[in-house]
Amino acid sequence: MKIVFLGPPGAGKGTQAVNISKRYGIAHIATGDMLREHVRKGTELGKIAKGYMESGGLVPDDVIVGMIVQKLAEPECEKGCLFDGFPRNIKQAEALSEKVRIDAAVNIDVADDIIIDRLSGRRVCKDCGAVYHISNLGKDAKTCANCGGELIIRSDDNAETVKNRLKVYHEQTSPLIEYYKKQNVLVNVDGSKSVDEVFEEICSKVDKAIS
Ligand code: ADP
Ligand code: AMP
Repeated sequence: MKIVFLGPPGAGKGTQAVNISKRYGIAHIATGDMLREHVRKGTELGKIAKGYMESGGLVPDDVIVGMIVQKLAEPECEKGCLFDGFPRNIKQAEALSEKVRIDAAVNIDVADDIIIDRLSGRRVCKDCGAVYHISNLGKDAKTCANCGGELIIRSDDNAETVKNRLKVYHEQTSPLIEYYKKQNVLVNVDGSKSVDEVFEEICSKVDKAIS
């Protein structure tokens, strides 16, 4: 089973992907997380990616596609995978289609004003990557409920970079909605609802799409 998550930055893709990948027993492949790991470790790939990520631009397609092809060969992908944050443009989608057949492309639809609120309040665990929002954290919460790691603000969640990430999303990523619609695998979900409601909507629509 292969699922793609579409949606603007901050739509809740990562939040839902953790639960949805568990529900279907498939690997969660988050290109943003993989890239941040490369940057943290200072790998060659990380050195290439760093500047693009800091400005909110897209890392070059050959770098991303190479990273995905390598990942797909790993045993954890045998049962299927959920792509979170990939593809980000038509070129990447075409490269993916040469490797696997997509069963459902879930578009988590959220308006820009909500996105700004979600990203400005996002906190992530430095160690395990768990995602939180300040509205759900206690006033002095500085540690991760999962692992006790430090909660930080992602360096690209500042107002200037968010503006560019949204622009890049509308110009380059949103055409994928039409791309997957034409392939009859598009599933639209209202991402402005609560985390639990969005989860339920994704499950029921994906179940229907794959039956
Ligand atoms: P993405 O992976 O699409 O960039 P995240 O899953 O990291 O988005 O979510 C962005 C922010 O929005 C986080 O602070 C997260 O806690 C919050 N969030 C995610 N889903 C919802 C939701 N349905 N309602 C309210 N806040 C949400
Ligand atoms: P994300 O964690 O999905 O918000 O991604 C963070 C940043 O990583 C993006 O702003 C891009 O710079 C980069 N990135 C993640 N996924 C991709 C991708 N599929 N193609 C190009 N760049 C990506």
